[in-house]
Amino acid sequence: MILPKGKEFAPAQLAEVAAIVAEFGCRIQPIIGAMRSIYAIVGDERDELMINRLEGLPYVDRVDRIQSPFKLMDARSDLAHHRIRIGGATLGRELFVVAGQCTIDPKNPNLFYETAAAVKEAGAQALRGGVWKPRTNPYAFQGDDQSLEILMEASRRTGLPVDAEVMNDHQLRLALGAGVHTIQVGARNALNYSLLQQIGRAIAGRDTAVLLKRSLHMGPIAEFISAAEYVVSFGNPNVILCPRGTAPAPDGYRNNPDECIVPLLKERTWAPVVVDPSHSVGRASYVPAAALAAIAYGADGLCLECHVAPSQGIGDDPKQAITPEVLKTLIGKARQLWTLVRS
Ligand code: PEP
Ligand code: MN
Repeated sequence: MILPKGKEFAPAQLAEVAAIVAEFGCRIQPIIGAMRSIYAIVGDERDELMINRLEGLPYVDRVDRIQSPFKLMDARSDLAHHRIRIGGATLGRELFVVAGQCTIDPKNPNLFYETAAAVKEAGAQALRGGVWKPRTNPYAFQGDDQSLEILMEASRRTGLPVDAEVMNDHQLRLALGAGVHTIQVGARNALNYSLLQQIGRAIAGRDTAVLLKRSLHMGPIAEFISAAEYVVSFGNPNVILCPRGTAPAPDGYRNNPDECIVPLLKERTWAPVVVDPSHSVGRASYVPAAALAAIAYGADGLCLECHVAPSQGIGDDPKQAITPEVLKTLIGKARQLWTLVRS
């Protein structure tokens, strides 16, 4: 990992660095951060001669070698200084809440506009809305391209940045083309490396973020972090880790709540952690407790399903969505706890 003395290398400097590492069978992947860029050496970076030649360049600050299976995500990586911004919020500096419907009903756009306004009023920094849905039953409603327009209209009306899940390249292109701010990778696709690669390549050079859910079946922590590393390795470091409960579940819950892995993730990586308690407990009445537990464990934020009229919702909303009133009270308590945890 090469750190430039300035904010980034000039094109001629980058060409010189790339030529040196190429002699040793490596290549350079620039990772462009808001404050500073770093240059990952992809390949075996242990050769002393290569390191010495790089360190001898007048515009190189230093070359760091981290022995870690995930060098980019490692808490000791130079990327640890990177801050992810979504809309007006900087993750890690304040409680971050993304909330909204599990699923946008294309037949009822007004419900989503009402939810969006209420989510903003309750204090959330970003709006979620499922346009395309992975489902347990393949014959259930799988979403609709039309809902993307509804999502973006809600973003325009409220000024909130929006999050939506994509499951394939077609949806990814549509979402990025429309200006979706955060691309969600769902639990069913958390280890779908070809999708992660498509996303990594498509968001390189943009300020789009990725909300990466943990995989369904007790996905090992190293695997979760490596999936995030893979997205970042294409050049955009805006990846957020999202524990969302794993299978099997204790009787009565949808999944096994896993907010307790937050300290572990925080110890091993620099990435912000935004917990999704809605899919972990799977019942609106249990969501506030699970959300506060996540904040107590040190989460940077929450991803919550919220609906103005849950019983009129589709997808998970009738079971899981909290109302905007509950959201508002929850955000107030979570803010206090967020500050307490960091005091
Ligand atoms: C969702 O966010 O609505 C969703 C389907 O989440 P997950 O991938 O965690 O099941
Ligand atoms: Mn859902």
